[in-house]
Amino acid sequence: MPSSVTAEAALEQCARGRLVVLTGAGLSTDSGIPDYRGPDAPARMPMTFQEFVASPTAHQRYWARSHLGWARMGHATPNPGHVAVAALGADLVITQNVDGLHEAAGTPHLIALHGRVADVVCLSCRSTTSRIALQERLERANPGWAARHAEVANRPDGDVALEETAGFVVPPCEECGGLLKPDVVFFGENVPKDRVERCYAAVEALAEAGGTLLVAGSSLTVMSGLRFVRRAAQRDVPVVIVNRGPTRGDALATHLVAEGTSEWLGRLAAVRTT
Ligand SMILES: [Zn+2]
Repeated sequence: MPSSVTAEAALEQCARGRLVVLTGAGLSTDSGIPDYRGPDAPARMPMTFQEFVASPTAHQRYWARSHLGWARMGHATPNPGHVAVAALGADLVITQNVDGLHEAAGTPHLIALHGRVADVVCLSCRSTTSRIALQERLERANPGWAARHAEVANRPDGDVALEETAGFVVPPCEECGGLLKPDVVFFGENVPKDRVERCYAAVEALAEAGGTLLVAGSSLTVMSGLRFVRRAAQRDVPVVIVNRGPTRGDALATHLVAEGTSEWLGRLAAVRTT
C-alpha cells in the first residue's frame, strides 16, 4: 500500500473514539533533542544504573556531561507534535521521553514512564529537588568549567563526546549528603510498578471501549514501552504506529505510518477537535 494511503487509513482509525498515546524520542527531534535510537543516531552506550552507583568516576562523568547538555535540553520548547498530542483528548498519554516537553505543552492525563530530567532524587533519603537548583550548585562548585568546555557543548552530540571530566565536583544531597541522581529510569532500573499498572489499566480500558493505541515517534526498542503494545494486541485493540523507521512493534500493528510525527499528529488533532 502506498504510504499516503496508509497514513489516511491510520488517520481514519484514530479520528474517533478513545485513544491512548505512547510517545518516544522521535516526537522531540523537531525540538532539537537528538534521538539516540533513531535511524541517523550515533552508536552510543548509555550509562547503566549499576555503573552510576558503583563508580565515583562514572558518577562524576555523568554529571559533568549533564551539566553541559542541560543548557540545550533546558532551552528546548514543545514542537507542533507535542501541541497536537495535548489537544487529542486522549484517555492517557504515556511518554518514554524525559525532556518534560509534553508537560510544557500542557498535556492532561500524562505519565512520564521514565521520569523527568527536571527532577533530581537522592539515592539515600529519596528526597527530590529541582534540576535547575542543582545546575546552580554545579556552577558554583565548578566555576568557569562550562565556559572552558563550551566548544564541546556546541557539538551536536555535546553531552556524550566529553571524555575529560576528571576534577569535576559533584555536590551531594543537601539533606543527608547522599548521592544525587536525575529522577529518571536508567538502564538496569525498573519503571516504578504503580506507573506501569496505570498504563496497563488504560490499555485494558481501550479493549472495553473499542479504542485505539497510538504509538508516535518510538522505535519500541525497550520493553518498558513495547509491553503496552503487546497487551493491546492481545486484547485486539487496534495499534497505529507513526514512526520514521521500523519498530519492534511493527508485527503487532494494524496500521504503520512511516513518517515524522509533527505533521501527521497535527492533522489528527484537527480531525478530532472539529
Ligand atoms: Zn539525601
